[in-house]
Amino acid sequence: MSQTNKTTATTPRNSKDITHWDIETDIAIIGFGGAGASAAIESADAGSKVSIFELASASGGSTALSSAEIYMGGNGGTPVQQACGYHDDTENMVNYLKACFGNQADEAKIRHYCENSIGHYNWLTGLGVPFKLSELKERAIMALTDDCLLFTGNEKAYPFTEHASPVPRGHNLQVEGDNGGPLLMKILTEAVNSRAVDVHYDSRALTLIVNDAGDVDGIVVRIDQQEKNVRARKGVILCAGGFCMNEDMVKKYAPTFDCGLIPIGNPGDTGSGILMGMGAGAGTSNMHECFVSLPYYPPASLTYGILVNDKAQRFINEDCYHGRVGYNALIAQRNSSRIYFITDVEGYGDYEKMSYLGATVAGTGDSIAELEQELTLPEGSLQYTVDTYNKHAETGDDPYFHKHEAWLRPIKPPYVALDCTLGRGPFYPFFTLGGLDTLPSGEVLTPEGNIIKGLYAAGRTTAGIPRTAAGYASGMSVGDVTYFGRMAGKTASL
Ligand SMILES: Cc1cc2nc3c(=O)[nH]c(=O)nc-3n(C[C@H](O)[C@H](O)[C@H](O)COP(=O)(O)OP(=O)(O)OC[C@H]3O[C@@H](n4cnc5c(N)ncnc54)[C@H](O)[C@@H]3O)c2cc1C
Repeated sequence: MSQTNKTTATTPRNSKDITHWDIETDIAIIGFGGAGASAAIESADAGSKVSIFELASASGGSTALSSAEIYMGGNGGTPVQQACGYHDDTENMVNYLKACFGNQADEAKIRHYCENSIGHYNWLTGLGVPFKLSELKERAIMALTDDCLLFTGNEKAYPFTEHASPVPRGHNLQVEGDNGGPLLMKILTEAVNSRAVDVHYDSRALTLIVNDAGDVDGIVVRIDQQEKNVRARKGVILCAGGFCMNEDMVKKYAPTFDCGLIPIGNPGDTGSGILMGMGAGAGTSNMHECFVSLPYYPPASLTYGILVNDKAQRFINEDCYHGRVGYNALIAQRNSSRIYFITDVEGYGDYEKMSYLGATVAGTGDSIAELEQELTLPEGSLQYTVDTYNKHAETGDDPYFHKHEAWLRPIKPPYVALDCTLGRGPFYPFFTLGGLDTLPSGEVLTPEGNIIKGLYAAGRTTAGIPRTAAGYASGMSVGDVTYFGRMAGKTASL
């Protein structure tokens, strides 16, 4: 069908202008990443005729690029948690997630997710997703062994310990190396392919088709340079990922993160799903927030060090998750021209062997005074901070920032400072955490809170469980996209 006007995401096509439906289906799913695959499996299992439209030539999206740690627990514990000796209470998990996201938390989604987390674990294993009944005890960003369970967030760090008992909930797939994402997407793709689902690759969704009542009737998709009108009798599910690759959207909606961070994700993370939803009248939520990280561990031994600003003041308990530290380091740089990681030579030796951080050495010294001078910090400032820290660390105490005593030991000479200033070497990755406003069912809401009939969304096209890097834990995104993808698929099939 030829069109005279350029089709844009935010300008939906009106159903009454459609003279011919090129493709007819029950449910049209946009995007074949984690959310789209999960939605397709549930929709097909509920008896719907399902069509997926994916702009790339294969499934995967950012889910396939990820480590695919999956955050699960509650209900007494997953089989892995139980086998590793952990009891996980649902209320404890709810309380933890509420503490993670504070006023930004979507309590309805959190509760839905936590109460059904074991069911989600069983759904994944039922499809063949392998989890070994083992734990990785070291502090790590991801498991490079095939071990499963690890602490992937701030569970053991202040102030979260004040709200919930620490339990590990990160579930790593049973695969060596950082290969969880490819394996998860391989299994989900096989599950989709074994069902009656039409998959259209190299097919870019352009805009929704909406009737005069505001209901969504279908979607316009470009296939082989042709715009096709797709009729979706039961609904369209937008699972097109986030918008970290869309500089204009990041500037407009999440300006805090428009500062030279490195976007991580797939090239399709352009926010097209969010824009299409907005064009059809959807509201958005949490658009100003992103995941950001300062991945300073491994080596875990760097956790014994301290982070300081350009006045040599600490600003965070360094035993937090790397996302919380990254977020706080970013905010600290509003008023600080430099961020340094101060460690001893032992910590630096480990850092040289294994690190994702990429920070260069800013200075060294046999004494703190010497290091302070080399870093051009105010005279006496670093000496005061390190003296105070060391004095308390000696007795297993950190009265100002509450770093856990397991990570407290005096920093001894010779000293090394790593330059953790944004733009001076260290890796600060980010991806977006805002999107369409949805119910736990996947139904998309208008800004007034009304349901848009025929429109569903899941994954990073929506604002889901994870709301800020300050409370993020690895596994909260893949957990959220697969779980709420399923919910959207189920609801659309009703
Ligand atoms: C390196 C890395 C590691 C990570 N590790 C973890 C982790 O261990 N645990 C965790 O929880 N999270 C992790 N994350 C985050 C997590 O992977 C993502 O947030 C999540 O997988 C997004 O899933 P999704 O289904 O929403 O989007 P995606 O998986 O990105 O799928 C979206 C799909 O939509 C397609 N698409 C986009 N626009 C269109 C369009 N207009 N028409 C048709 N198709 C379209 C894209 O091509 C893509 O295939 C990581 C992310 C990265 C980058």
